[in-house]
Amino acid sequence: MKIDASRLQTSMEEMARIGATAGGGVHRLTLSDSDKDARDLFASWVKSAGLSLSVDEMGNMFARREGSDDLATPVMVGSHFDSVPNGGRFDGSLGVLAALEIVRTLNDREIATHRPIEIVNWTNEEGPRFPPSMLGSGVFAGAFERDFAYEVRDTDGMRFVDELERIGYRGKLPCQPRPLAGYLELHVEQGPALFTSGIQIGIVEGIRGLTWLRITMKGARDHAGPTPMHMRKDALVGAARAISAIRDIPGNLGSDLVTTVGEISVSPNAINVIPELVTFSVDFRHRDENILTRAHQAVVEVSGNAAKQEGLEIEVTPLGGSTPMAFDSGVIGAIEETCLDKGYSHRRLWSAAGHDARYAADLCPTAMIFAPSVNGKSHAEDELTLWEDVTRSCEILGGALVSLANQP
Ligand SMILES: [Zn+2]
Repeated sequence: MKIDASRLQTSMEEMARIGATAGGGVHRLTLSDSDKDARDLFASWVKSAGLSLSVDEMGNMFARREGSDDLATPVMVGSHFDSVPNGGRFDGSLGVLAALEIVRTLNDREIATHRPIEIVNWTNEEGPRFPPSMLGSGVFAGAFERDFAYEVRDTDGMRFVDELERIGYRGKLPCQPRPLAGYLELHVEQGPALFTSGIQIGIVEGIRGLTWLRITMKGARDHAGPTPMHMRKDALVGAARAISAIRDIPGNLGSDLVTTVGEISVSPNAINVIPELVTFSVDFRHRDENILTRAHQAVVEVSGNAAKQEGLEIEVTPLGGSTPMAFDSGVIGAIEETCLDKGYSHRRLWSAAGHDARYAADLCPTAMIFAPSVNGKSHAEDELTLWEDVTRSCEILGGALVSLANQP
């Protein structure tokens, strides 16, 4: 499939003006005014492309191009327009606008597909304003209750449902699982694997599982001066040893495992007081559930040892996570074939970041395509994907999509 690269670039640039930041990124938090503007612009493009638009109770937007058999189960393709605070221009937008470019191309050439194609813009993929992330696709797939999502509040106390109503995107269509013949999502890689190896297309085999823990260590508060070193129970020292040991777990268990301590609070957090209480988070990810279980055990063990060494009490609280999701080999095969057809270099990889495709995969055969991220950067204003990579990845998405949409 040959797409109109300059039309896609123009649309990407126009979309990037909504919520644009001085540093070249976008600030388009879920259900904010700029999210509304992005939706309105998309809706206008959908209308000019002759697609029918429906919006569900979660604000998920579905733009449908009929198939030659309208009764056939549709294939779905898309991503999201919301962003993290001061995020990148390509994250999410690429997946929706590449899908739109493919449909525009099919229209130009009067190409019919057997199955209907539905382009989706999922609500709240990112999640920093209304956690957890992937709420729209999660409710759609039945992983969350709609009313749970409705009651989520942002830090100003605004409810999700009220903000959805305010921007005019609380639709009538029930947000619930329905039959789909397949789901495809193009996204920027957000990591360095493709860019550093100079490979043009990533074929995503699955999404790594993720576990979140909160660890609390309790020692004894005391004066930083008179208390001899051997009499101290310093919660921050215990935490520091644990954090350092958690950093070393991937080296022992396997290089694909990643562990992160990204959040810490110290009490009383004063220069002349021995820390009494420290709480920190642990995030670890791997494609293999057994490794995740072993990593969990290792985190508990090294933290327990660190606490013991300092005479601290320790509590480990699970904060949830997600199990690894392997994508469909048939859809992966369709993407691979398109890469071979086009002669683009490609490799298979697993996503370490969450995506709406994770939930779509609960409903239908699913896979993802990654475009290279310059220097592997994302969730930052200087996130960048080169235009030639945008074009190539859109062509691959188009080829795979049409092949799925023509499956009997
Ligand atoms: Zn994204």
